[in-house]
Amino acid sequence: MLTEMNMGDVIRLRKPHPCGNTDWVVVRLGADIGLKCLGCERRILLPRRDVAKRMKTYVHKDEGGSASSNESS
Ligand SMILES: [Zn+2]
Repeated sequence: MLTEMNMGDVIRLRKPHPCGNTDWVVVRLGADIGLKCLGCERRILLPRRDVAKRMKTYVHKDEGGSASSNESS
């Protein structure tokens, strides 16, 4: 399922960041996944396998074209 991950997706990790936040936005895709903490904006790089192990759920999946949400941003 991680292969479906896209830039801008927000994921929730099982273990909170020291700042208390658990939600991260995907800012880089590659051999390593770049994540930015939504609490303190710190960026980290994690191997895909690590992300898969630490991830709890998707908070927001950017489908890029899905009209399920009408929120204007
Ligand atoms: Zn943080």
